[in-house]
Amino acid sequence: MKTKSVIVIGAGVGGMTAAIHLAKQGMHVTVLEKNSHPGGRCDRITRDGHHFDTGPTLLVMPLLYEAEFAALGVPLSEMLELQRVDPTYHLVFDDGSQLALTSDLKDLYEQLEAMEAGSFHAWMRYMQEGSQHYHLGLQKLVYPDFRRAIDFFKPGLLPLLYQVKPLTRHYANMAKYFKNPRLKAAFTFQDVYMGLSPFEAPATFSMMPYTELAHGVWYPKGGMYRLAESLYAVAREAGVDFVFESTVEQVAVDKIKARGVLVDGQLLQADVILANADLPYVYQNLLPPDGEVQSLSRKRFSCSVISFFWGVDQPYPMLQPHTLFLSDDYQANFDTIIKELSLPANPCLYIHAPARLDPSMAPPEQDTLIAIVPVGHLSGNGEQDWGAIRDEARQQVFHRLRTLGIFDLQAHIKFEITFTPLSWRKRYNLVKGSTHGLCHNLTQLGYFRPDFRHRRYRNLYFVGASTRPGTGLPTAMISGRQSARRILADLKI
Ligand SMILES: Cc1cc2nc3c(=O)[nH]c(=O)nc-3n(C[C@H](O)[C@H](O)[C@H](O)COP(=O)(O)OP(=O)(O)OC[C@H]3O[C@@H](n4cnc5c(N)ncnc54)[C@H](O)[C@@H]3O)c2cc1C
Repeated sequence: MKTKSVIVIGAGVGGMTAAIHLAKQGMHVTVLEKNSHPGGRCDRITRDGHHFDTGPTLLVMPLLYEAEFAALGVPLSEMLELQRVDPTYHLVFDDGSQLALTSDLKDLYEQLEAMEAGSFHAWMRYMQEGSQHYHLGLQKLVYPDFRRAIDFFKPGLLPLLYQVKPLTRHYANMAKYFKNPRLKAAFTFQDVYMGLSPFEAPATFSMMPYTELAHGVWYPKGGMYRLAESLYAVAREAGVDFVFESTVEQVAVDKIKARGVLVDGQLLQADVILANADLPYVYQNLLPPDGEVQSLSRKRFSCSVISFFWGVDQPYPMLQPHTLFLSDDYQANFDTIIKELSLPANPCLYIHAPARLDPSMAPPEQDTLIAIVPVGHLSGNGEQDWGAIRDEARQQVFHRLRTLGIFDLQAHIKFEITFTPLSWRKRYNLVKGSTHGLCHNLTQLGYFRPDFRHRRYRNLYFVGASTRPGTGLPTAMISGRQSARRILADLKI
């Protein structure tokens, strides 16, 4: 039988994972990537000996990575040298008080009880619920392939309505556990990873704080970009061809089939086209306009972030690997980001100091710092002044650092690189500059999330954050495996 060919548009984590699975089944796979290197949002900038992971900085859900690497035929332990980050986060509140989320239970007990009597026991109950949400969520919502509506709307899934609380708001559910709003914030802020506010996210997402403490937050030696490099090496080994600086301008289609893709005006043909570029972008920019474009434009998109990458001429050891400043105006913070698409007056923000975990991330006696400030995505009405918003965000970071006794950072910054929502759109073709793609609200999850296969063009498939199961690196690997499985099943390979 003739070898089937696949063109993958984009060398993100999802695209590379799918490419490996397809190549291992004997398909001829070519990945076309607009940028000069693999990884997509899992990206890296190096300058003057400072290494910045510009996208993901947290390796969470390690068991999923283990399973996905095993499915690729390579043990995770051979690919990445992982160390556990404990405490996972140092939370800093407006008055400078702190909470270190640690798996050292005696230490956590003392910290929680100091904030609210009885809260340690409540936290244990919350973890129990998170564990149930994690295990059932993965088993019933993440791993199954919802090809048809009947696969999703079946009586067997009805108990999930109370087992994983999809209809209860996450923040409201916290009242069952804590009174102190800071504790409610400490165990819900992770919803922002899904592009959601805890005030609207389903309580199902308590799975995140659960897995972060139960299974750990990890860090690969050499930084998160090692994941992209590992997948690239495995893909090359499996025979996948990569062409970098190769932008797909169009998916060429006839009535019900994709014929190939246009690059520099040239048609490159393949039996299957697999788009790893963000799904809404593919519909809007690479395919002929149809009703789906309108329907996608009505969908909700995740928020964006402004990131500052600083090469600093002296170390700041008081900054732990992951420091999170949580604002007491917690609800206003999310409302401004999600409803007003702007920067909150007193934003929650995150600082990553990778040299605390791996000294090689900064030159000796210096520091590499990343500050991430969540903001609204691009509004499309041209009213957002991103230069001014970026400058305000930078001042907010310096302001918050003062609560940790850091007053002189500005004077020690050797260079700064910044990403705004405009950068995210330009670098990775993310619609609205949404860092996590389509948002993960109830009506955009599971069967409701865009399928792996295009409805009309039967050999056009999707993989990555805006298709199923959703955003995140381990999820992108799951998406890659599931999408490849669908292609192989449709081709009867
Ligand atoms: C700031 C930030 C922080 C994050 N933090 C975390 C974290 O801590 N932990 C975690 O697990 N996840 C995190 N994520 C999410 C995670 O990075 C993404 O969910 C994941 O990397 C998405 O992978 P993907 O396969 O969807 O593809 P993408 O990474 O989107 O890759 C798609 C590729 O397609 C290419 N492309 C686009 N258009 C074209 C075209 N026309 N022609 C050719 N190529 C094209 C792009 O350049 C890109 O390389 C974070 C994301 C961001 C942005």
